[in-house]
Amino acid sequence: MAGHETRLLIGSEAVAGDGPPLEVENPFTEETVATVATPSDEQIDAAVAAAREAQRGWERTPAVERGEMLHEVARKLRERTDELAELMTLEGGKPLIENSDEVGWTAAAFDYYAEIGRDSAGRVIPSIEATQLSLVVKDPVGVVGCIVPWNYPLLLLSWKLAPALAAGNVTVSKPSELTPLSTLALAPCFDHLPAGVVNLLCGAGDVGGAIVGDERVDCVAFTGSVETGKRIAAACAERVARVNLEMGGKDPFIVCSDVAGEVGVAAKGGAWAAFLNAGQVCTSAERFYVMDDVYDDYLSEFVDYTSSLRVGDPLDPSTDVGPMVSADQRQKVRDQVEAAVAAGAEVVVGADNAGRERGHFFSPAVVTGAPAETDLLREETFGPVAPLVRVGSLDKAIELANSTRFGLGANVYTGDLKTMVRCMRELKAGTVWFNDPLTDNDAGPFGGFKQSGMGRELGREGLEAFQETKHVHVETEIAPKEWWYPYAGGAKPHDGAGA
Ligand code: NAD
Repeated sequence: MAGHETRLLIGSEAVAGDGPPLEVENPFTEETVATVATPSDEQIDAAVAAAREAQRGWERTPAVERGEMLHEVARKLRERTDELAELMTLEGGKPLIENSDEVGWTAAAFDYYAEIGRDSAGRVIPSIEATQLSLVVKDPVGVVGCIVPWNYPLLLLSWKLAPALAAGNVTVSKPSELTPLSTLALAPCFDHLPAGVVNLLCGAGDVGGAIVGDERVDCVAFTGSVETGKRIAAACAERVARVNLEMGGKDPFIVCSDVAGEVGVAAKGGAWAAFLNAGQVCTSAERFYVMDDVYDDYLSEFVDYTSSLRVGDPLDPSTDVGPMVSADQRQKVRDQVEAAVAAGAEVVVGADNAGRERGHFFSPAVVTGAPAETDLLREETFGPVAPLVRVGSLDKAIELANSTRFGLGANVYTGDLKTMVRCMRELKAGTVWFNDPLTDNDAGPFGGFKQSGMGRELGREGLEAFQETKHVHVETEIAPKEWWYPYAGGAKPHDGAGA
């Protein structure tokens, strides 16, 4: 279909892929939005070679100049908000309003790292002697392979690209096979950067695997499922490449007794955290532990609010929840809910196709009575399902919250400071939100405990993920040291020498 950019960006060239074609489906209409051609092996090789070639020049570019260029990326992104948001909606099914926000957050990440990058070259440490200077210098890692999923295609890419570029690295990126168009459309936002600094490919796991396995790629930054992340970690371990992993979650959402007067607010917050982007958020609230004395009110408010949500065309500005991204993704969610029902759970509302024959719709669902051992309460759902569980104490809520192999985020509704401090200390999660679910902050590190990830994005930690640390030891006087050979003359031991 004409009108959409389907070419790859290799070096400074927009080139048609020589590999197999990839059809991009609109999850609302189930029609093909566009067909992109994936790269051949030679083209993947050329993209990595172009990045390698660009590395030296980009690393030597003063950080303040790199920063100016990253601000320019942010400006160009904002200028293209409508085009990029619409493309993300066409290929991913996320409501337009959420995609417009996503472009803004993407631009904000470039602005943030434009500044952080020129303020983070290392530090001075006390030297061994007064005539010496000792430095900790932060070098770029080199070529960074960025591999991202389909749920926030541009935002999750920016959390890798912006810090990697700010730190002086060059990049080869690959979006999900479900959402390549918005990423390929980014090419003009990078056209003021030196050739080869940003390379954009597309394709599925085979293209990702080729990037991960390439000896010239020094670091892989990945967001996606735990299963793919484990494969990537193993491949990187084989050649000791750096790896940063952002993976799945099963976030708990605890509602405490003291919110009795604000149960409606906590229910709205919970529904938003569970159903945003049709539940396809890595930090979606997927398990609700609600204190016994507020449970009945909470359930009733939650169900009423859920029933009021408008499910429909993601391009319609009044739509709250759009379709899921694909038939496969919806089927996984259906299977998980059906298995929970077979084990004794009850669907109170939703879990149908929202009265639509076309589009991968799954209406926001509230489920009660799911046994603790069902996948619905243990494994990632990645769909609009809120299972509510009645709990008798905060101890039990925290114990259950920490009971899975995941540890990405956690939410708590409470106004009680003692409860906040306890939850803050005891919840095993990379982010703990109190009374404001899912709000990100560019300056706040984001990532997971346990199998949810390794490393952090955003904040200073998100820049350090793309830096190597070098210790530089300078003696300003060229003179022999008394502890050198020959020892026969009575050489003195020296605390700092050797290791
Ligand atoms: P996925 O793991 O199937 O794919 C992610 C990316 O990896 C895609 O680009 C895919 O083509 C690529 N890939 C697949 N196999 C590969 C291989 N062998 N080598 C290299 N690359 C390969 O995940 P998905 O279905 O696209 O995304 C959903 C998952 O992403 C969920 O589990 C979700 O929790 C997770 N996610 C995590 C975060 C986070 O920040 N922690 C954010 C968003 C999504």
